Amino acid sequence: MRHTDHMGFYPRQEDLGSGLMDQVLDRVGQTDFSVFTSRDVKAALSHRTRTIDDFAACLSPAAAPLLEDLAGAAQRETRAHFGTSIQLFTPLYIANYCANLCTYCGFAADNRIHRMRLTPEGIEAELRAIADLGFEEVLILTGESPKFSNTAYIADAVRQAARLFRTVGLEIQPVNTDDYRLLHDAGADAVSVYQETYNPDAYDPLHPGGRKRSFPYRFQSQERALRGGMRSVGFGALLGLDDWHTDALATGLHASLVQQAYPAAEISLSCPRLRPTVADATVNARDVHERQLFQILCAYRLFLPYASITVSTRERAGFRDNVIGVVATKVSAGVSTGVGDHAEGLSSGDEQFEIADGRDLAQVCAAVRARGLEPVMNDHVLV
Ligand code: SF4
Repeated sequence: MRHTDHMGFYPRQEDLGSGLMDQVLDRVGQTDFSVFTSRDVKAALSHRTRTIDDFAACLSPAAAPLLEDLAGAAQRETRAHFGTSIQLFTPLYIANYCANLCTYCGFAADNRIHRMRLTPEGIEAELRAIADLGFEEVLILTGESPKFSNTAYIADAVRQAARLFRTVGLEIQPVNTDDYRLLHDAGADAVSVYQETYNPDAYDPLHPGGRKRSFPYRFQSQERALRGGMRSVGFGALLGLDDWHTDALATGLHASLVQQAYPAAEISLSCPRLRPTVADATVNARDVHERQLFQILCAYRLFLPYASITVSTRERAGFRDNVIGVVATKVSAGVSTGVGDHAEGLSSGDEQFEIADGRDLAQVCAAVRARGLEPVMNDHVLV
C-alpha cells in the first residue's frame, strides 16, 4: 500500500528546502551517454580537474574499451591523495527490524525472517569482541524502524562504541538535523545514506511502503547530517536497481554538490551491487558485472579524487584485492550482516544479504600488504 507521494515528505520529516536534488535530477536528465567518443574519454583523462561532462564520458560506453587507461589515471589520483594507506573497519548490525518495504532487501517488513535487537549488554559484548580483534573504527547499522531502533536506542549504542573505538560511523534510517546532532554528541561522526536509485520513477515501485518512500527526504540526509555536526558523509546507489550509468553519474554529482555547499565535509562513496537475500536468492545486479563496477569506481576516483571509496564484502575477495590501491581506500573485514554474530553466546538475527568475501582482519591486512600498501586502523580522532 502506498502511503504518500514518493516525491513528498511524511509528517515530521524535515524539509531543508535545498535545491541540490533538482540540480542533480535536471543535470542527469540531460545526459545522453551515447554521444561520448573515445576522444572525449581521453580528453577527460588528460584534464587535471574533471568536469561533470568528463565524469559522464568516463561512465559512458565509449570508456569501456579504455578501462586500462582509466585504471592507470585513477591509480595516480589515489596515490596522490591517499598515498599507500588503506583504512580498515567492520560493521556491527545491532537490529534488523525494519518498517520499510524495499522490494530488494532481506530486512523488508513483509519478509518473515528472524528479527532481533541487541540489548545494551549484547551491544557491549559485540563491541568488545570487535575491539579485541584490533579494529579502531566501527560502523553501526540498523534496519529502519522508528519503533525498535529509534534515535535514543542508537545514541546509547554510539556512546558505548565511542568508549572503545576512535571512529564510530552510522548506517541507520535518515533522521532530522536535531537527531543527527544528538548522535554526533553521543560520539558518532560519520553517516552514510544510500539513495538506492536516483531515478524517481524507478524509486517509486521499489519502495511501496514505509517512510523511506520519501525520495527527497532521503536525498537531503547528508545535508542534515552535516548541519547536525557530522564530519563525514557517505553516498551510494545500489547498483543493479536501475540504469547504472545514470545512477553513478547522479551519485557523484550529488556528492560533489554537497562538497561544494559544505567545504569542510569529508566525502565518501560506496558502490554496493545487488546481492541475493534471505528472502530471495535470485536477486542480482543484472548488467553490473565486475568490469562495469570497475569502470564506475575509476570514474568516481577521477571525478572526486579526494573522496574515500569503500568496496564492501558484497564483492568477492579477488575483485576487492585488485581494486585496493587502484581506487578503493577503505575496506571492511570480518563482516557479518546478521545481528549479534561477533561475540560467542549471542543468537543471530537473519542476515540482510549474502556476503562474498568472508575473510577476517588478518587475512585482509595480509592482502593489503601483498599489494605494497599499508593497512591503517584509523586516521582520525574525534575531539
Ligand atoms: S534496504 Fe534498508 S530500509 Fe529497505 S528494507 Fe532493507 S533495511 Fe529496511
